[in-house]
Amino acid sequence: MTATKPPLPSNSFCILPWMHIFADEKGVMYPCCRSVGSQLPNREATGQGRIYKIQDLDGIEEGWNSAYMRKLRQEMLVGERPLPCARCYMYEDLGMKSHRQSQNEQYVEQIDALVSRTSQDGRVPLELQSVDIRLGNLCNLRCRMCSPQSSKALIQEWADLHGVKATHPYFEELRQLDWFAQPAFWEIFEKYSTKIERLHFAGGEPLLIAPMFDFLERLIKLDRARNIMISYNTNLTVLPQRVFELWPHFRTVRITVSLDGFGDINSFIRYPSHWPTIDQNLKSLDREVDNLNCTGGLAFNTTVQIYNIFHLDKFIDYTADSFINFEAPNLSILSFPEHLSIRILPQEIKDQLSIKLKTFSQTRVEQWQEKWGKEQAETLAAAIDGIVEHMMSGDSQHLIPEFLRWCQHQDQFRKQNVLDVVAELAPLFK
Ligand code: SF4
Repeated sequence: MTATKPPLPSNSFCILPWMHIFADEKGVMYPCCRSVGSQLPNREATGQGRIYKIQDLDGIEEGWNSAYMRKLRQEMLVGERPLPCARCYMYEDLGMKSHRQSQNEQYVEQIDALVSRTSQDGRVPLELQSVDIRLGNLCNLRCRMCSPQSSKALIQEWADLHGVKATHPYFEELRQLDWFAQPAFWEIFEKYSTKIERLHFAGGEPLLIAPMFDFLERLIKLDRARNIMISYNTNLTVLPQRVFELWPHFRTVRITVSLDGFGDINSFIRYPSHWPTIDQNLKSLDREVDNLNCTGGLAFNTTVQIYNIFHLDKFIDYTADSFINFEAPNLSILSFPEHLSIRILPQEIKDQLSIKLKTFSQTRVEQWQEKWGKEQAETLAAAIDGIVEHMMSGDSQHLIPEFLRWCQHQDQFRKQNVLDVVAELAPLFK
């Protein structure tokens, strides 16, 4: 007999605002990583007042039950859709699995107990189980869809495009993001991390950021490591020896590799990554899964955009054919920068892509079921359907000039030619 899942408090409910905090590259708090695109950070009052930062002495304490968080929880309890969480609801409306749904599934046993501690005004006790931190913006890549907030290596290219000096105060601030390495932040983190069971790192590139290793060492010394699952978003351009020493001390490790295509497509988007190195690191991870304690899972995240939509089939085939332990790729829809959205494509190209992707999905779904199991195969097929629907249901062709301006600037700066890699985009250049 299968156990029935307890019902959720509402159709818009998400467990994360009851047990999780997220901080972006500047330490600015949001309900979770998926709400960053809303550009509605956690603040004193809705749309105004102090913005809470995790590194501020009282940032976690005040931010946890801010007017913003209380309103968000109250809305979720009565089935309203809070604005910062629009991305999750958009995915669900497209028939795709949202982060909200995954997290609710993961913590289903705790939902009743956590919700029962909510007061009338939306306050809940501050007992963090899960923390997600962007460790600044040190990265070795300059991905086409990224920004200097996430990779300081992009500063010069962005300054040139916008016709400002790279020494502009906006960029200077982004050059010096190091709040997570300060002793004061350690004290804050240790105070609130006594019950955490999950710690997620992204960057920048977390496997290149020295304070990330300090985090791990301190947690091992504090004897908290064995209770904690650590997880990462990484570009996997490196797989440092230190992870072989440190990761086995933790309860488990989960790795999500950001990969946006196969071979040249990935190297073009995630410039200047070297495909043979990434391919080799992926295979090492797959092979060393037990030695590295990666029992929490190996995953891919792919941001579907104008540069990879034409070759998505080849990429998915690569993930299905090349690995034993990796899950089916998680496909995300690019929403920023908008000029890289698949919605800017002309209708005729969209029609061809729609047929191609649907046919691909139909011909592979059985193979995916054998490879990854029914649930993952169905999630992947639903993601492809959702991506097609998203592409077909909005027309952003007015952004083609902006796409050309950016693309040509980046091509020139990097000495690349987009048409050498994505020849299908030629009609946009005519
Ligand atoms: S609903 Fe989505 S965006 Fe909001 S907190 Fe949950 S997972 Fe994050």
